[in-house]
Amino acid sequence: MNTQFPAERILLGPGPSPVSSRVLRALAAPTLGHLDPQYIAILDETCEMLRQVFQTKNQLTFPVSGTGMAGMECVAVNLIEPGDEVIACVNGVFGGRMKDVMERCGATVHTIELVWGDVFSHEQISAALEQHPKTKLVGIVHAETSTGAHQPLEGLANLVRARDALLVVDAVTSLGGHELRVDEWKIDAIYSGTQKCLSCPPGLAPVSFGERALAKMDARKSKPQSWYLDVSLLRKYYNGAGGGGRVYHHTAPVNMTYALREALAIVLEEGLDNRIARHARMHQRLRVGLDAMGLSYVPKHSLHTLNCINIPAGADDAIVRKRLLDEYGIEIGGGLGVMAGKAWRIGLMGHGSTVRNVDLVLAALREILR
Ligand SMILES: *Cc1c(COP(=O)(O)O)cnc(C)c1O
Repeated sequence: MNTQFPAERILLGPGPSPVSSRVLRALAAPTLGHLDPQYIAILDETCEMLRQVFQTKNQLTFPVSGTGMAGMECVAVNLIEPGDEVIACVNGVFGGRMKDVMERCGATVHTIELVWGDVFSHEQISAALEQHPKTKLVGIVHAETSTGAHQPLEGLANLVRARDALLVVDAVTSLGGHELRVDEWKIDAIYSGTQKCLSCPPGLAPVSFGERALAKMDARKSKPQSWYLDVSLLRKYYNGAGGGGRVYHHTAPVNMTYALREALAIVLEEGLDNRIARHARMHQRLRVGLDAMGLSYVPKHSLHTLNCINIPAGADDAIVRKRLLDEYGIEIGGGLGVMAGKAWRIGLMGHGSTVRNVDLVLAALREILR
């Protein structure tokens, strides 16, 4: 194996997605000190761009150090106190992880479970809230990467707010690829990752907290069990909260911030709406090609960013994926959890969602499955 010069793969799996040379160049810029005024300006600009991409005015919007899972843990440890009752909506691997993380925060977790690939209706969530009136928080995954299901979120906050609970959303595979309106949809806290539809390397987890989430944090009786992810400490650095200038908490991943700033600049140059429309078009293009080959989708409501398809009878999962990688340099994902060996996951995210990649993966699959 050549460990010095990694191959240039075409990343069409569940993430990471392909990273443009512009972002890679940004990553290679000289490392600044994390309290250098120039770096603080870059960080502030990055947070402002994140607000635009999240479509929020939330002041407390910043990139958590760590991958998407760090975003999930950050939201959970800050908004949940031991003994809190919460609802986890589980229809795939990531909903299941949310439940696990919430339990580790000491919550009493009420789970609503669906067949993998299905999405939750307002009625199902209403019924769960009715059954558990002390619920303080509802966690739901917008883009369930393990099944490719697209969870509608509009209107959900009204049900959750009527019970005085918080709405927490996992947007790891939707931010920058699907319509996502944090303020308009009244989402109280949300987290994402850099390596999916933003097409930045893995390593940061953009998060955003609204006023109601802040109030819940301010009213805490106990400290969050994670020092590293404690937002009351982090915001003194990321937001300069508390006055008196930026306070050192941990060393910010300086070069990753450059990369994220550049990736967000690319998103905003393309225009959020144009980008979302491009993801929809490329999904359609792939779908037409897969249909023609007799390949079917797992979920009824498919994401545009992640296409989860049934492995056809007679095809060997491991051999097909190995040939795609060895002969075409294409990575797609296998099935996760209960879908292992049953599904393939073709990601069309960010920089990877192009006519060239769609037609290439279709041609390669056609050739290999022949
Ligand atoms: C990828 C993903 C995560 C976890 O992100 P990591 O960057 O792998 O830590 C969480 N939720 C969803 C829906 C994801 O697709």
